[in-house]
Amino acid sequence: VTLLAGCGGQQETAEETAGEETVVEEPEAKIRVGLSLPTQREERWVRDKERMEAYAAEVGIELIVRVSDANIQEQITQVEALLNQGIDVLILAPHDASAAASLVEQANREGVPVISYDRLITNTDKLDIYLSFDNVKVGELQGKYITEQVPEGRYIIMSGAPTDNNATLFKQGAMSYIQPLIDAGKIEVIAEQAVDNWVPENALRIVEAALSANDNQVDAILAPNDGTAGAAIQALTAQGLAGQVPITGQDAEVSAAKRIVDGTQSMTIFKDTRLLGEEAINIAIKLANGESISTNGEVDNGRFNVPSVLLEPQVVTADNIRELLVGGGYITEADLN
Ligand code: BGC
Repeated sequence: VTLLAGCGGQQETAEETAGEETVVEEPEAKIRVGLSLPTQREERWVRDKERMEAYAAEVGIELIVRVSDANIQEQITQVEALLNQGIDVLILAPHDASAAASLVEQANREGVPVISYDRLITNTDKLDIYLSFDNVKVGELQGKYITEQVPEGRYIIMSGAPTDNNATLFKQGAMSYIQPLIDAGKIEVIAEQAVDNWVPENALRIVEAALSANDNQVDAILAPNDGTAGAAIQALTAQGLAGQVPITGQDAEVSAAKRIVDGTQSMTIFKDTRLLGEEAINIAIKLANGESISTNGEVDNGRFNVPSVLLEPQVVTADNIRELLVGGGYITEADLN
């Protein structure tokens, strides 16, 4: 009798007759993966979750999902419960990069490998792998785009949540294009602020304040993601300026795609969360089976260079939005109307 083994194995019991006795063999347990997401506030995290749930079912692993509402205490409680319940691998997208380190250490003590998902966990050397997009490149694509559109002028520069290591990487990439033009006296920064918790209302206040302090004299806005871009565009709209000020984004949210078609948002960055989600499950299965993972980079988390798998981000503008997002099945043509 061959027992059904490995990932994708069914939970079945094989019976075998050995002489007079009947031996009932235990079913091979499914791989059990815990997934902790930081939020569902941005559409992309909804998509990550949907794809991972569907893919886990396809490949036959058990995926236990917990979502914290942008709250690290809640996330810590949820992950501790996952570890107590018994999981083979933990996929963790931290709300707070360094506060999540204790969770990695705890998982490590219990022999549970951890995948840092999309956002890097800092402050620990016990992390097994980082799976994300090339986030410096995300920022570079934003910075390159906006400085090509507006090589001289008055900039509002926003960055993401200070607790999110991605925000640091995005800004680093963007400033590699913007800073030289500031140094050359071509770009003047009229506001430079981080958006706490990535909350759009915070971005709205930053842009409203900058507009009113500068008599609406603004030429470009660096917004780190689509949520903050949408808020900035709301502030511009209130002053009759929407569509006149180039502005970046990220995530390829449906609402941002609409704004790009309408001409109020200039670009977004497409990060295919479907691929990221599938890759996370594939890596989790390999870790559970003790197989090696092939990486394509390393990212410093302040303690060590974390072996990393980094996917490619892509620029979306009005010119390629249909080809890239509709053609790729990420959104539908109807979404754009
Ligand atoms: C993600 C972005 C997202 C932001 C807010 C970042 O860590 O990489 O895609 O817009 O968090 O959730």
